[in-house]
Amino acid sequence: MPDRDHRIFASDYKEEPYWWEAFRPQAIEAPALPRRTDVVVIGGGYAGLSTARALADGGIESVVVEADDFGSGASTRSGGAISAGLSIGKSFTGKTLAYEPDFVREVVGWSIAAYRALHQLVASEKIDCHLEQRGRFLGACAASHFDALRVRHDKLRAGGATDCHLVGREEQRAEIGSDYYHGGLVLETAGKLHPALFYGGLLAAVRRRNSITLAGQCRATRLDRSGDGWRVVTSAGEIAAKHVVVATNGYTGELTPHLQRRLVPVASHIIATEEIPRDLALRLSPKGRTFSETRRVLNYYRLSPDGKRVIFGGRARFTEVDGRQRARLLRRLLLQRFPELEDTRITHSWQGNVAFTYDALPHAGEVDGLHFVVGCNGSGVSMMPYLGNAMGQALAGRLRGRLPFADVPLPAIPLYSGKPWFLPAIGGAFRALDYFDERIR
Ligand SMILES: Cc1cc2nc3c(=O)[nH]c(=O)nc-3n(C[C@H](O)[C@H](O)[C@H](O)COP(=O)(O)OP(=O)(O)OC[C@H]3O[C@@H](n4cnc5c(N)ncnc54)[C@H](O)[C@@H]3O)c2cc1C
Repeated sequence: MPDRDHRIFASDYKEEPYWWEAFRPQAIEAPALPRRTDVVVIGGGYAGLSTARALADGGIESVVVEADDFGSGASTRSGGAISAGLSIGKSFTGKTLAYEPDFVREVVGWSIAAYRALHQLVASEKIDCHLEQRGRFLGACAASHFDALRVRHDKLRAGGATDCHLVGREEQRAEIGSDYYHGGLVLETAGKLHPALFYGGLLAAVRRRNSITLAGQCRATRLDRSGDGWRVVTSAGEIAAKHVVVATNGYTGELTPHLQRRLVPVASHIIATEEIPRDLALRLSPKGRTFSETRRVLNYYRLSPDGKRVIFGGRARFTEVDGRQRARLLRRLLLQRFPELEDTRITHSWQGNVAFTYDALPHAGEVDGLHFVVGCNGSGVSMMPYLGNAMGQALAGRLRGRLPFADVPLPAIPLYSGKPWFLPAIGGAFRALDYFDERIR
């Protein structure tokens, strides 16, 4: 290890999620794949498991096929931050998209419903995952960004959201132990959980339901129409099904070209620090909030559930980056916000894929008879289980009202066929604009 790395990395540094110390992905092999079932669900993350759970509760059999171990996708890798909000009105390229106010209200309604549903799910399945509503501090990275937050705050209040307030730079230290921001916006209806323990609890809930077969290390490789239904070819055999639900989000591949052309997989990176003294942790995060920010290439962070470590995420690079380099880059960003962590070493670094859509909205629906729940856009801890559950209820004929997002077309992305060649260029442009806002304007 180079000399300076001793100061940066703990001796037991690992390149896997900190969360896996509490729950690791599970190798679950189906004893034998059933030859037929009602529904094949492809992808065993929050969305896929929630679909299967709702199907089972409606008396419908399903097989969940997962290409890897159960829990190896994004669902056990996230920052675990949740909120009742959702960003709407900007494409992932930064272009402004205009919507009717009714549609915006409807989408915000789904987002609030997803946040509430997560709490209900955790309570009803008795999942011990450190779910806490401690609010989010959204830091303004430039003075002009604080003005924009003021406008957002006024709009939220005018729309009836009384759970948010602005915090000026002078009072900011009551929220976060940092002078990095030009004030911020606090959203009280937000919180955090342990993402892998939440996943583990959901997996246990699914395993309690006899009508669900879980097949790990089982990749779906081909989908053929067969009569009214489907023939699903997998690495472990074939299954005939009436319906197929694709829940592969940031890991969507050539199996579903229509979706692949509409989903941009983007790696998000995280580090965890070694344990820090209690008084330092309290100074950095006096109220236990989650932190996010107004930059285009933003960072998100929080304390671990035991309040002893900082979990810090963002996009270290828009190109492939090795584990240690990813950790060094993130640490540099962490120290800009919390210089007090100069002597704190990194114990874990990891990454996972999220899926961006052109309109930056999640999507659930059907195309050519194939059902899908995809497009988390970096925020899926509450939305993906919510949409998965709604999809399962819809297929079981038990959904009250319409499937959220079912009538919202999933837009194709111009000049894109599944290889995101433009990411380095967009990432570079975003970083340049952030630099301009923060240092020059
Ligand atoms: C680093 C990181 C930080 C994040 N932070 C937050 C956060 O703080 N808050 C928040 O709300 N969200 C966050 N997210 C997003 C959140 O984790 C995801 O939205 C959510 O986990 C998506 O769940 P999913 O079930 O749709 O997908 P996943 O959990 O990714 O599951 C998809 C699964 O599909 C499987 N698969 C793919 N192709 C096939 C195939 N052909 N056959 C079988 N299986 C297949 C994959 O192996 C994978 O396991 C973060 C994500 C990452 C990566």
